Amino acid sequence: MLLIATRNKHKVEEIKRFVPLEVKILSLDDLDVKLEAPEDGNNFVENAIKKAIFYGNMTKQRTIADDSGLLIDSLDGFPGVHSARFMKDSSYEQRMIFILEMLKSKQDRTARFVCAAAYYDPVEKVVLCCEGAVDGKISHGIRGTGGFGYDPIFIPNGYETTFGEMGEEKHKLSHRYKAFNALFEKLSAIIFFK
Ligand code: IMP
Repeated sequence: MLLIATRNKHKVEEIKRFVPLEVKILSLDDLDVKLEAPEDGNNFVENAIKKAIFYGNMTKQRTIADDSGLLIDSLDGFPGVHSARFMKDSSYEQRMIFILEMLKSKQDRTARFVCAAAYYDPVEKVVLCCEGAVDGKISHGIRGTGGFGYDPIFIPNGYETTFGEMGEEKHKLSHRYKAFNALFEKLSAIIFFK
């Protein structure tokens, strides 16, 4: 059994695709977990590991968690680790409009999504973490209704469409796909899931 420790329903849906079929999945709601993990690390890896250890120790279940965000080069990596919390009381549409406004005067629109995927086993005290990234650029407008978060303004390199316009294709190239794929590759070498 494996706990997917995130309350973001979109992330749960994405992560489920990457979990090997034979593994039984638990959610925080299944275990009636109400507390929130701290997210005060300096980077994605620290935060992902903190979340996995926090929920793993609390539930005594083997746990996976991720931390992710959008980094825009001409804004010095903003919003980065603050992607979920910046303008917290505004909708994603408002946040994307704000970002597009900030980029109006910039030539460089390059950006990347980064994801750290962490695993923690509270019995064996094993911690593993893998990072994945996808490079691209910020579009000139909000495009598409698929996905979540900043998907409608991110165009991965080699494509004309935003993640928000893309559908299934996103899950073959995303930062989350790369991070969890690498994590499960490592895990399958050392762990027998049941
Ligand atoms: P956290 O990992 O829960 O701290 O939140 C990461 C935040 O980064 C999300 O709430 C989104 O705002 C953004 N983000 C991370 N991954 C994606 C993605 O695949 N698409 C769109 N936005 C994302």
